[in-house]
Amino acid sequence: MTEKKRLKDLTLLEKMYLPQIVKGLALTLKQMFSPSVTLQYPEVKFEPPSSYRGRPVLVKEQNETERCVACGLCARVCPALAIEVQAAETEQEKERYPEKFEINMLRCIFCGFCEEVCPEEAIVMSKDYELVFHDRESAIYGKDKLLVPVNDLQDRIDYLRKFKK
Ligand code: SF4
Ligand code: SF4
Repeated sequence: MTEKKRLKDLTLLEKMYLPQIVKGLALTLKQMFSPSVTLQYPEVKFEPPSSYRGRPVLVKEQNETERCVACGLCARVCPALAIEVQAAETEQEKERYPEKFEINMLRCIFCGFCEEVCPEEAIVMSKDYELVFHDRESAIYGKDKLLVPVNDLQDRIDYLRKFKK
């Protein structure tokens, strides 16, 4: 532990706090001429990295089909009970699909558990951070708002494949 100077050992300048004031002013001056890190939002948008966890979305394949098989794992693991899935049968190779898939964005805490648990890479955390609601009902996102083309989510999917074991 460094020994503190006693008041009687301080020089006159130190007693007047002058070195500290000059140091503080020099730091302020340096910051005034360094490049700004502040973005002029909303004119300038923040482009998040692929590790960013924005709102969860559902993956829509290139042939317009949804990847989700309505297993319900994401709804089970969601700590905020924000997800509601209702499964229905299909006639195709993929036997089930979500007839209804809703996420209550007022409840979602962006934890990413749904993404982690999904066996199909069907729900991922997007880069979208702009959420605006005017009432509680419009905060419940259905498939119309949740389904996003796979090409727009490729960054995140590649990131998950690299780091998710
Ligand atoms: S990110 Fe977390 S809180 Fe939000 S829907 Fe997924 S599991 Fe639920
Ligand atoms: S998003 Fe994934 S975990 Fe959730 S129901 Fe669909 S396939 Fe299952």
